[in-house]
Amino acid sequence: MEELAIFGGKPVREKKIFYGRQCVEQDDVDAVVETLMSDYVTCGPKIVELEKKLCEVTGARYAVAVCNGTAALHLAAMAAGFGPGDEVIVSSITFAASANCVRYCGATPVFADINNETYNIDPECIRRLITPKTKGIVAVDFTGQATELDEIRKICKEHNLILIEDAAHAMGTKYNGQPVGSIADMTCFSFHPVKTVTCGEGGAITTNDEALYRHLARLRTHGITRNPEEMVHPTDAAWYNEQVELGFNYRLTDFQAAMLISQLRKLPKFSARRKEIVAAYDEAFSKIPEIQVQREIPESDTTRHLYILRLRLDKLTCDRRQFFDALYAENTCPQVHYLPVYWHSYYEKLGYPKGLCPNAERFYESSMSIPLYYSLTDEEVRDVIRAVEKVVAYYRK
Ligand SMILES: *Cc1c(COP(=O)(O)O)cnc(C)c1O
Repeated sequence: MEELAIFGGKPVREKKIFYGRQCVEQDDVDAVVETLMSDYVTCGPKIVELEKKLCEVTGARYAVAVCNGTAALHLAAMAAGFGPGDEVIVSSITFAASANCVRYCGATPVFADINNETYNIDPECIRRLITPKTKGIVAVDFTGQATELDEIRKICKEHNLILIEDAAHAMGTKYNGQPVGSIADMTCFSFHPVKTVTCGEGGAITTNDEALYRHLARLRTHGITRNPEEMVHPTDAAWYNEQVELGFNYRLTDFQAAMLISQLRKLPKFSARRKEIVAAYDEAFSKIPEIQVQREIPESDTTRHLYILRLRLDKLTCDRRQFFDALYAENTCPQVHYLPVYWHSYYEKLGYPKGLCPNAERFYESSMSIPLYYSLTDEEVRDVIRAVEKVVAYYRK
């Protein structure tokens, strides 16, 4: 058996590969520079153009571009009307922001467990957690795979709940042929550099509801309106604007918008390459009994943001920590997504106990994300597979 690099053997490759990386090309740079030299650096026509493009890509009627994905979730939670005394059901395996947006509004996140095979929120769990105080659901398209939207929307309809879809991972994904972004009441995106398309920092909310759209747009700019119909003291004075509620400055700049428009034009090729890499990994890992391959629901045509390597620990002599460190030493650098949100000490202090979501906890303790991004070469993909095979072979029972 080959000696692992962590014990002094030769690593599978010399240069490190990380789990995610942006793809920025000359046309993205040109779009930024051109906008920087134009009349508007912010609050200009590129924002309008970006929002139109986002509607085109997602099939949504309205889009509001904001400065990051967390701001998108915050505004969506505010527009949903979440407040003190309300409960909002949230996925347990997600980035903390999915639950934090509920806390920003003073409402209480209620964590639902995940399905053991898809790793998305389990609709049966959602049903069990509904109380008279439940006001909404924040469901995450974890790894980019669409969550079970038909079933979750049915639950929302039955109980009069608002559905916020956290699609930070899922730009480009379709559900029953319909792009993510046009299905939930509000869908939130992130354009952070590890996500499928990026503009450095950026986010957006899409919706088909005109009232929600107007509210989101107003909250993005301090709660200030120029529309006399929304004012308490309407006037036809050209200079007049009125703050009618407490909002924020969550605006995106025009040069970021220009970069994102350029990136969105390339979404088809980004998406196709990610699918190719996922197919290569799935093929290789489905032959390894020590690894569980993520199940795809047939409704989801997935542009995968993360590739989860899930270990069957009962078939290995190592734990996740040892596997992670060994893989890292082979210069295939994994990351873990995610700690169950309520294990963060902030949430622990709020009183959420260990053991709340057993599937989520088992998932966390047996998983890591391996490299997946557009510019990963075939050779690098082969190296990742070889590194995984090497570590599995060493720790096989
Ligand atoms: C990245 C991410 C966010 C937050 O987006 P930012 O743009 O980093 O603020 C929210 N939810 C999930 C699931 C994410 O992956």
